[in-house]
Amino acid sequence: MDISTLKGIGPKTANIFKNNGINTTNDLLSYYPFRYELIKRSNISELNDNDKIIIDGVIEKNPSLFFFNKKMNKMTFSINTGSNLLKVVIYNRGFLKSKLLIGNIVTVFGKYDKLHSTVVASDIKLSKLPNHTVIEPIYHSFGGLSSNQIRGYINNININDTVKYIPEYLCEKYKLIEKEDALKIIHNPTSMLDLKKAMAYLKYEELFLFTLKINSLRLNKKNEIGLTRDVKYSEVEKFINKLPFKLTEDQLKCVDKIYGDLTNKNRMNRLVQGDVGSGKTIVAIISLYINFLGGYQGALMAPTEVLAYQHLNNLKNIFKDYDINIDILTGSLKQKEKKDIYKKLQNKEIDIIIGTHALFSEDVLYNNLGLVITDEQHRFGVNQRGNLKNKGVTPDILYLSATPIPRTYALTIYGDMDVSSIKTMPSGRKEVLTYLKKNSEIRDVLELMLQEIKLKHQIYVIAPLIEESDKIDLENIYALEQKMSNAFGKICKIGVMHGKMDKNEKDEIMDKFNSGELSILISTTVIEVGVDVKNATTIVIFDAYRFGLSQLHQLRGRVGRNDLQSYCVLISDKESERLSIMTKTTDGFKISEEDFKLRGSGDLFGIRQSGDMNFGIADIKEDFNILLKAKEDTSYLLESGNINSYPNLISVLNNSINLD
Ligand code: ADP
Ligand code: MG
Repeated sequence: MDISTLKGIGPKTANIFKNNGINTTNDLLSYYPFRYELIKRSNISELNDNDKIIIDGVIEKNPSLFFFNKKMNKMTFSINTGSNLLKVVIYNRGFLKSKLLIGNIVTVFGKYDKLHSTVVASDIKLSKLPNHTVIEPIYHSFGGLSSNQIRGYINNININDTVKYIPEYLCEKYKLIEKEDALKIIHNPTSMLDLKKAMAYLKYEELFLFTLKINSLRLNKKNEIGLTRDVKYSEVEKFINKLPFKLTEDQLKCVDKIYGDLTNKNRMNRLVQGDVGSGKTIVAIISLYINFLGGYQGALMAPTEVLAYQHLNNLKNIFKDYDINIDILTGSLKQKEKKDIYKKLQNKEIDIIIGTHALFSEDVLYNNLGLVITDEQHRFGVNQRGNLKNKGVTPDILYLSATPIPRTYALTIYGDMDVSSIKTMPSGRKEVLTYLKKNSEIRDVLELMLQEIKLKHQIYVIAPLIEESDKIDLENIYALEQKMSNAFGKICKIGVMHGKMDKNEKDEIMDKFNSGELSILISTTVIEVGVDVKNATTIVIFDAYRFGLSQLHQLRGRVGRNDLQSYCVLISDKESERLSIMTKTTDGFKISEEDFKLRGSGDLFGIRQSGDMNFGIADIKEDFNILLKAKEDTSYLLESGNINSYPNLISVLNNSINLD
């Protein structure tokens, strides 16, 4: 059912959901909590300073409210917990004041400041705590919807009409519970044991469908006949020799493989993986050139418009002395512009088209599409790698991925592809110097920042990551802004960016940072994706221990983008193996290998690290064994032909495998 049919969801909220990929009530049901919190009344006498606290009590003193400015305020009141009198401080909840009356019972969630008998609260509920322990699901918030709001909507869904995918005999084999129960429990667990059973079902289901798609792709691809091209390598060499730089050995190896793929009769289905900045784009460009020489049209698809335009500029520059027509097609073009492009594609007035997934919308017909390249493949997912079906073409396919993964995982996950890796960085790149600092050593950090500001370089400052509450996130970020403007406000401009801003606000800040108007950009991890400012030489990450290894590596990848010496400062009072790995290597392959080793069990109540595979509930490392089983089960289903007795599965395949 469409999400808008759900109780309590108006057009505005429905839009928020749809913008975040949740179109139906089933989609929302599979929006699983990313972790659970055990809610139990804290025993104050057992708490240490700065511990998490959950406590209820009777309000003893009416709140006093102080406004810093229009948006920011601070409220203070006190509660009697039966054993203690606690002061409660909470920011930006002034609107609750009228409900916090003397004699009312409230529950506060926050941090305990032992010395001052104070709770710095992140949340207040206007009710008493239940006597038993409650397992509360926590959802990643989005589009201004809080975890609690999301949960409310989910609980309005009638769970009795879900589609089942796992064949009965496999449910029996793994002793899985009913799907309806699994879904009910995952969103409203009453015990850890039930929760485990629910997870077992949903993880298996997810990996079952995933491997079903991968295996089906693999089977379809085996020995598929593709296009051949009559292109001499000497011509490719000529092109390479004219490039403004010398290719690295790994780049040359990739080109070699791709040349082979494009000239032989088998259809190419290849993934090139390499760290951010390793130079995958030029490999893509050379492939497009080979394809062009072979007489075919080529398409390069990027996950965002920004990246698409970046590629357009790049290609126009590199092909400026060649007679090759290059154009761009994105969703935001005007209808008339789109029609014009469609016509040119059909008449072969365009040789190379760059764009977003608009490249494969229904209206686009190619004249003789020979090569499709998908950049940042990992952001698309198996389902969306480009819909070539019904286009009557079988082009060669090349994927680029900046999330290098170890070979064993690559073989399982990308089991349907050939994989090439670019391991070495172009020469002349200086390694980003990475330092680990404690909060007490902030002076050293500020000095480094000052040095770079004086050199007219730019700096990212990443705010601590706190997933519990967006409110705390904001507080953190404003506190950081205060700190930074105390230190540097007089000598340079500072900007702030966070996920709560709308796209225009973010674009504006990014433009200012891009143009160099801002020297310091304070941000949450929203900058992780696709930001490329060459003059930024320093990134300072607060509370670095909270971030996952891959995430830290991606963040560090924002600097060191040219020949300037760059720095990454990890600030953390806690030690962690992740941080020491970060100081020891900048090699993305090593880091992802370590990441896979480190991640794993014990994640249930921790902060789940953002996975590379974007599974909803399964974890590629932790659940690798389930993945292997699912892979075997789905292989059997497909190879034996038994799949044909499961119309649900057939329709999954028909709807999602849209690669041909
Ligand atoms: P990514 O692999 O992240 O897509 P890019 O292809 O954007 O990386 O390359 C990053 C930068 O390195 C680009 O400015 C590109 O021109 C440059 N580059 C690529 N290959 C080489 C090379 N062999 N020598 C020097 N610079 C290179
Ligand atoms: Mg790239």
